[in-house]
Amino acid sequence: MSQDKKPDIYRWVFFIPIEDVVSPNNHGKNGKLPPCLLCGQPVKNATYSVHLLTDGNLVSSDQEFDNSQGFHVIGNNCRHKLPNNFVFRITA
Ligand SMILES: [Zn+2]
Repeated sequence: MSQDKKPDIYRWVFFIPIEDVVSPNNHGKNGKLPPCLLCGQPVKNATYSVHLLTDGNLVSSDQEFDNSQGFHVIGNNCRHKLPNNFVFRITA
């Protein structure tokens, strides 16, 4: 697979390994509310999300990726653990 074939958008995309930002206390609690991907706490009024790939990286783009795992809710506090370009506002 040639690197030259990649569309321009990939040049400006950044990645953060999820294990760099996930909380050690994240036990993936199951409740009625969606858990924050980073800390596992239930999120009320989900407003922010991150884009997770199957390779375990968060990506600073909301474009389609072949290895996308989709968007995952994060809490209001945890969004400050990430640069703004990694956080996407959930639109109803
Ligand atoms: Zn959180």
